[in-house]
Amino acid sequence: MKLNKKILLLTGILLFQFLFMAGCQKKDIEGPLTRSEFLMNTYITLRIYDKKDKDILDKAIDRLKEIEDRMSVTIETSDVSLINDNAGVKPVKVNEDVYHVIKEAKYYAQISKGAFDPTIGPLTDLWNITGEEERERDSIPTEEEIQDALKLVNYEDLELLEYNQVFLKKKGMKLNLGAIVKGYAADEVKRIFVENGVKSAIIDLGGNLYVLGEKEGGEAWKIGIQDPFSETRDYLAILNIRNKSVVTSGDYERYIIYNGKRYHHIIDPKSGYPSESEISGVSIISDESITGDGLSTALFILGVEEGTKLVNELGDIQTVFVTKNGEVIVHENLIEDFYLRDDSYKLIINSK
Ligand code: ADP
Ligand code: MG
Repeated sequence: MKLNKKILLLTGILLFQFLFMAGCQKKDIEGPLTRSEFLMNTYITLRIYDKKDKDILDKAIDRLKEIEDRMSVTIETSDVSLINDNAGVKPVKVNEDVYHVIKEAKYYAQISKGAFDPTIGPLTDLWNITGEEERERDSIPTEEEIQDALKLVNYEDLELLEYNQVFLKKKGMKLNLGAIVKGYAADEVKRIFVENGVKSAIIDLGGNLYVLGEKEGGEAWKIGIQDPFSETRDYLAILNIRNKSVVTSGDYERYIIYNGKRYHHIIDPKSGYPSESEISGVSIISDESITGDGLSTALFILGVEEGTKLVNELGDIQTVFVTKNGEVIVHENLIEDFYLRDDSYKLIINSK
């Protein structure tokens, strides 16, 4: 198993242990109904606390596989691959859910002024930082390659047409929904759980979390915010929440090393290089996980000030930024439910 996978697995196990301990009561030593799989290039874990019906988990997993089959850029037969194959040629009719996610992706591109850009494909292909490959590289893309790829990245050339048709205007353009699809998928699992009467559950799609309801006994869920600088992925803080999505984007899990320098997987569509804001990790707390996923990627690039401004325009969304110089900047509406565990960090209340 490669190191990255090991780290991801370890993260999952740590989170599991934490939630398990948090959710476990004397009379319920069996723990929740749980399923873990490797899907969407990440470890996913679903836990239902108030029902023992395995069919619900099956339905959720089937839906996740369907979403991956339709929206993955690496599956040749996916709707997204068909759109990419027909870039500059013709519009492609896609499934309704794919159309919906692309429409949302374009919306996050518009409101973030292109910090989030789902047409980032040519650049992500060039950098190829998926967390699957070897960390140490003997080369990175050349300036010329980056400039060429940049010419093909522009969400304004992504057209959403009638009858669920999608068109990329230029040949060589490439959609990549990797920064938003897990959020959508978490919302879908939540929908399936709720439709099947589940009231208490944790949906974890590789750190893209949705916590449904509350713990048995009426307590809030306790969710750990990872320490970007800890090799063992300790939690630097704990959040008490109910019925919320918590999505984190960071520079510490998927990255490569070239000439001793780290290059992470979130690319700034303005420069073509991994973004260089002051942030090491940002968590978005929102009602819908698609919102959290779109914004986590956007805010990671935009930085604290611009990111906070954007979130404030949208309303009822909270943020936790962890900066490279050891600050934890917490949205004021969150502060009562936020516990900093590691006092080597400086806690700053964001009241802007
Ligand atoms: P993760 O998938 O690691 O949880 P994100 O949600 O932030 O993190 O998504 C990062 C992924 O999105 C990258 O691996 C890449 O495929 C894609 N991506 C990278 N930069 C951008 C960008 N500026 N806009 C949209 N997608 C991006
Ligand atoms: Mg994202």
